[in-house]
Amino acid sequence: MANKNYSFDTKRIHAGYSSEDHFHAVNTPIYQTAAFDLGDIDRARRLWTGSESGGIYTRVGNPTVSVLEQRIAELDGGTAAIGVASGMAAITYAVLLLGEGGGNIISASSLYGAAQESLTHFFPKFGITTKFVKNRDDVSEYESLIDENTKAIYLESISNPNIEVYDFEAIAEVAHKHGVPVVVDNTVATPYLFRPFEHGADIIVYSATKGISGHGNTIAGLVVEKGDFVYSKERFPQFHTKSYKMRDLQGNPRTPLELAPNSPFVSSLRVFYLEFIGATLGAFDAFLVLQGLSTLSERLTKQVATTKKLVAYLENKKEVEWVRHPFAKDSNYKELADRYFPNGAGAVFSFGFGGTREQIKTFIESLEIVSYHVNIGDVRTLIANPPETTHGELEPKLHELADIPGNLLRISVGLEDADDLIADLDQAFEKAFRE
Ligand SMILES: *Cc1c(COP(=O)(O)O)cnc(C)c1O
Repeated sequence: MANKNYSFDTKRIHAGYSSEDHFHAVNTPIYQTAAFDLGDIDRARRLWTGSESGGIYTRVGNPTVSVLEQRIAELDGGTAAIGVASGMAAITYAVLLLGEGGGNIISASSLYGAAQESLTHFFPKFGITTKFVKNRDDVSEYESLIDENTKAIYLESISNPNIEVYDFEAIAEVAHKHGVPVVVDNTVATPYLFRPFEHGADIIVYSATKGISGHGNTIAGLVVEKGDFVYSKERFPQFHTKSYKMRDLQGNPRTPLELAPNSPFVSSLRVFYLEFIGATLGAFDAFLVLQGLSTLSERLTKQVATTKKLVAYLENKKEVEWVRHPFAKDSNYKELADRYFPNGAGAVFSFGFGGTREQIKTFIESLEIVSYHVNIGDVRTLIANPPETTHGELEPKLHELADIPGNLLRISVGLEDADDLIADLDQAFEKAFRE
C-alpha cells in the first residue's frame, strides 16, 4: 500500500500490509512469539541501532502489531503509531512522556473517568499536575492557563457520557501559538467519524477496546503522532537529549529527533516506555483489532443512524428529563458537531432518567436486549449508570465538575435492529413506572 491516496475505506482494509512480506497470507498472521532470531552478530548490531528494521523481542515490537500501527497511522494521516496494552496505557504513556521532568497539562473536566482521576490524583505523584478549565467552551480560558511549564492541552474529541465536542481548531491555534502540543483522545469518535490531525491535533490516543475493534473482545490502546510539531529545547528537552539507547551504527548517542525526525514521540515511547514500563499489545489482540477495524465504517454508519432514532424516541418519552447528544433538539453542541462531525458525533449518548434510584434499578434489570455493562463501542447495545460505575471512582464534588448528575444513564448503541431496541426500552420503562 505504497499509494497513500487511497480512500479511508480502502486503507482500513489494506494499509500497512503486503502479503509478499508474510508468506502470501491473505489475512494478517498472528506472530505468537516472544522473540525473533537475530541471524548473525552484524545483523543484531543493525537491529539494535535501528539501521535495519525487524523483530527483536515482542515487548518492543511484533509484526502483527506493526501492521495495526501502520494502518492506524495511515488512517489518521500520521507519521507513526504505536500499539500498547490498553487505552489507559496509551494515555499514561503520552502524559508521562510529554511531562517528563514535571509540568502541567490543561484539560476540561469532562473526561473518561480513569483519565480524569489519573490527571487529578495519580500523575501529580510524578510531578505532572492538571489545570482544569472552568468553561470548556471558552478558548481564551485555555490560553490564560498556559505557562512555561505547560506540556499539553488534552481533549477528548467526543466526551463521554455528556457528548460534548470542542472548537478544536480554535483551541489548537492558541496551543500552537505558545509552543504547546494538543493531545486528543479520539476513542468515541474513531478515525471514521473524526480525524483530529486535520483539525490541529498533534498526538492522538485511542482505546482500541472500543469502536475501533468494535466487538467487545479485547483490550488495546494506540498512540498516533502527526509528526510536524516543533518541540522546543526549553519546554521539551527530552526530545533533544542524547541517549546511548538511541545510538547509531558507530555507537554515537542520538536524540529522539536525530533518530526519527518525523516521529520522535512514537520512537521515544517505543525505545523508553515499551522497553522500561512494558505495557505491550499482544499479537493476538492486535489481530482482533485489525479484524474489527476492517468493518469500522459500516458499523459506525449503522450505529449513528440507530442513535438518531433512539435519541428521538427518548426525547418524546415523558419519563426522560433530557437527552445529551448533538442529535438532541436542545443540544448546545449542534453547530460544532455539524462542523467537525459531518457523519454524526458518535453512537454513545446519555439521558436523565425521570425516576428514583429504585426505578432505575427496575428499568435496567428489566432490559432484555440492552445489556448492563461498562464497555462502549460494542456490537451489542449497552447501558450503564456512570455515577455508580464508570465514574464511580470520582468523589461527588468531581461528579459536579464533570457534570454527571445522579440520574444519568448512558447508552452505547450496537448493531441490533433499532425497532427491537426501542421496544426493549419501552417495556423496561413500562415495568419501572408500573404502580
Ligand atoms: C475506555 C476508554 C479509555 C480507556 O481505555 P481502556 O482500553 O479501557 O484502557 C480511555 N478513553 C476513553 C474515551 C474511553 O472510552
